[in-house]
Amino acid sequence: HSVQVSVLGLGAMGSVLAAALIEAGYPTTVWNRSPGKADDLVALGGKAAATAGDAVRDSQVVIACLLDDASVHEVLDPLTGDLAGRALINVTTTTPAQSRESAVWAADAGIAYLDGGIMAVPHMIGRPESSILYSGSAEVFHEHRALLDLWGTSTYFGEDAGLASLYDLALLSGMYVMFAGFLHGAAMVAPAGITATEFAKAAAPWLTAMTGGFEGYAAVIDGGDYTVEGQQSLEFSDLTHIVAASADQGISTEVISMVQQLIQRQIDAGHGKEGFARIIESIKQPA
Ligand code: NDP
Repeated sequence: HSVQVSVLGLGAMGSVLAAALIEAGYPTTVWNRSPGKADDLVALGGKAAATAGDAVRDSQVVIACLLDDASVHEVLDPLTGDLAGRALINVTTTTPAQSRESAVWAADAGIAYLDGGIMAVPHMIGRPESSILYSGSAEVFHEHRALLDLWGTSTYFGEDAGLASLYDLALLSGMYVMFAGFLHGAAMVAPAGITATEFAKAAAPWLTAMTGGFEGYAAVIDGGDYTVEGQQSLEFSDLTHIVAASADQGISTEVISMVQQLIQRQIDAGHGKEGFARIIESIKQPA
């Protein structure tokens, strides 16, 4: 590979991203704020830079994997002159608004900017199930696609730099609410002497099977008609028993009541006979 790459930030994630590049034969310069973290990568064949500026000046492609948006700007704002004319791929987790601000900042400085959201933990990097979402410069994405694909499955969402981050955070919302649902179930059975480990054995295949419902809900939502045949109605989706059983177990009903309230708002508005997917209307319009 002729393209020289620099990686800024050698934490749990950055060090794995850099190792993948070195192992694939990319000439790679690495930099970390605190010393010592580059040693393993140098042993692999990477080159350590003494300063972030040295690392930037070494390469056409600069990858930032720092803690957050503030640390990215703390490191890179003083280096805009050096970054001009280079590609910056920022895989640091940021909000969509921060990603868009960074894209404007980069455009003003003549930096080609690609924003990334990593949907993986470090040990997944390099496997197909590691998914990395990108938005921003299409040119950077396409030109350096081979490099990006070393980390996992790369998906590009378009020139709006905030989209990868928006998608990332939307997927994480789904994950956190699902985890809370699993933990609610585990708390429900705990007073009956059922361990969380036992419950997990039943919950994992059940929830996996239930993800098969997403497509049907999506078709109803995108079709814009919640009355189409074959759906579970809101009235049928009565969570009263689940809330009562949770209270009987002496646990909090917050998690399950939240869903019950979303359903109830649609029933109160006269949509009880319509499909369960309609609760998205409760979510789209805050009470
Ligand atoms: P770590 O906490 O392991 O590493 C953070 C890195 O940021 C370190 O290199 C640290 O340097 C550096 N850093 C923090 N603040 C500054 C600063 N002000 N100036 C310069 N460098 C700074 O985090 P990760 O590697 O796990 O995460 C990096 C990014 O990747 C984050 O945005 C995270 O959200 C994202 N990510 C991580 C995942 C994971 O599973 N780990 C999953 C998906 C995304 P120092 O060593 O000097 O402290």
